[in-house]
Amino acid sequence: MLIFRQLFDQESSTYSYLFGDPEKKEAVIIDTVYEQVKRDRALLEELGLQLVHVVDTHCHADHVTGAWLLKHHAGAQIGVSENAGVEGADNYFTHGDHVTFGSRYLEVRETPGHTNGCVTYVLDDETMAFTGDTLLIRGCGRTDFQQGNARDMYRSIQTQILALPDQTSLYPAHDYRGITMTTVGEEKQFNPRFGGQISEQDFVGYMNNLGLPHPKQIDIALPANLRCGRPENGEIADNEPTWAPLKLTFAGVWEVDPQWLEEHLHDVLVLDVRETKEFDGPIGHIPDAMHIPLGDLADRTDEIESVRPVVTVCRAGARSALATVILKRAGQSDIANLSGGMLRWRDRGYPVIGGVN
Ligand code: FE
Repeated sequence: MLIFRQLFDQESSTYSYLFGDPEKKEAVIIDTVYEQVKRDRALLEELGLQLVHVVDTHCHADHVTGAWLLKHHAGAQIGVSENAGVEGADNYFTHGDHVTFGSRYLEVRETPGHTNGCVTYVLDDETMAFTGDTLLIRGCGRTDFQQGNARDMYRSIQTQILALPDQTSLYPAHDYRGITMTTVGEEKQFNPRFGGQISEQDFVGYMNNLGLPHPKQIDIALPANLRCGRPENGEIADNEPTWAPLKLTFAGVWEVDPQWLEEHLHDVLVLDVRETKEFDGPIGHIPDAMHIPLGDLADRTDEIESVRPVVTVCRAGARSALATVILKRAGQSDIANLSGGMLRWRDRGYPVIGGVN
């Protein structure tokens, strides 16, 4: 069994792909997005995976890669085509190289055309291929900048991608309509640019007359991606909270461990968001906890003094996770959810007011 996740960045409509070997616990990520590195790290941690490679299909012009930041946090090796012209990678791939994670690998196939340094990653058993901006679902990447060449692209698609078995699933770097994947057979039949009887000549004529606007992010993204996504000053600017050793869940909520809270009860404001009958009920509540039921919270946020960080609590941790979102919207900056809620707090034997034993 293989772990596989398709991840999406709404801002740039970019898909990132994570693979993990569940036995050896090694992972690789394709085409990460700088702003999504926290999300990716949280997912890796929850799945218990060690990131060994962070690879890009090409030097992107529409978003900054998360490669450098993931290397910094997770120790992964950065990999990209040797033709991409970027500095700061650990591995520069050529045609036929393998990107190994655990007992599996991705094969590198050079597929120039959108840029000189475009590659397609093909899973070892040829069930999946990751085409970057070379082949898009019912389309293909543009060929009018970054050393693009329509003739090269046609040949790359025909000889490296459509030569795979018809049932091979194809995953692109983007889709702007929400379609997540396609297959070789489907694109051979339905792709309006190179499917059916369309010749190289037809394709080149089509591509050279697209007349597309300049990409939105190109002036920021290209220079950054030529450094594998390292910021110009080389500093990490991802605003990790420092007031407690918080963990980010994949759902995007910062959580604090009951043990840390028990040791720092006086440094934070504990906010219990359960109903009144639960707060006074058999599970009891944490000493000095402030009580505002979740349903009233949005209207009562001004009652919360904002000097100390706020830790939200409920029975099992779900409603209090929502409370962190409400508080954030109200302008509170240091907030975390108590991991596991009152149930875990009681299980660990930490002090409780009221309730029954
Ligand atoms: Fe691109």
